[in-house]
Amino acid sequence: MPLLEIKDMTVGYGRIEALHGISLSVESGELVTLIGANGAGKTTTMRAISGVRPLTRGSIMFDGQDITRMKAHLRVLAGIVQAPEGRGVFPGMTVQENLDMGHYARKFANKAEYQATLDHVFELFPRLKERRAQMGGTMSGGEQQMVAIGRALMARPRLLLLDEPSMGLAPMIIQQIFRIVSEINATGTTILLVEQNAQQALSRSDRAYILETGEVVKSGPGPELLADPAIKEAYLGVA
Ligand code: ATP
Repeated sequence: MPLLEIKDMTVGYGRIEALHGISLSVESGELVTLIGANGAGKTTTMRAISGVRPLTRGSIMFDGQDITRMKAHLRVLAGIVQAPEGRGVFPGMTVQENLDMGHYARKFANKAEYQATLDHVFELFPRLKERRAQMGGTMSGGEQQMVAIGRALMARPRLLLLDEPSMGLAPMIIQQIFRIVSEINATGTTILLVEQNAQQALSRSDRAYILETGEVVKSGPGPELLADPAIKEAYLGVA
């Protein structure tokens, strides 16, 4: 049984239908990527999974449970956690306070669990440990992305949703973020990633789905899609 299974999902904004019945699944332990051009429906897919956009048709199953109509905050408790879109760091709070905000999502957490999770986040991001007292708003773009991911991890996700974590970052920082994404996955967190940076994302993904104008047009193992001539031409800028 997949951890996440979406069937025939249709989502719209008013009368505009953004997703026309997509199906996809994520197995426990996988790193799965959604690739697609601007407006393909990637962000809408993430919003539907996290529960902030309703479905007009279809279903979402998580760990065998139908969550199609479950409220967003209950999905967080169930283990579906999205790193905030566009970083979304609280600028007037310290790094530590930002991370703690992620942990408050877990209502029944105890101190030992909190400390273990914080240690894990600081192991992944030593930079955040050094800068724990610094205001979020004064961190660099790459550091803010680390705070955003770290905050999501503080809620102990079973499925981590990442929407374009590399957006707007310098190439060296992008490399670093991708390495950390792989590491988070390797330490046992299932990840669904949205990325424009197809080369990096496909090479690191177990599987990927290609979205075009609200439909899944192709899916397969990441490295296989990376070698696909049509995908190379459309998403990797090479013919
Ligand atoms: P991008 O990489 O540019 O964010 P995307 O693949 O994430 O693209 P979505 O943001 O999911 O695409 O958009 C899918 C479609 O839904 C687009 O046609 C877009 O114009 C439309 N859409 C997205 N958000 C809204 C909104 N708040 N109101 C109306 N239409 C929207």
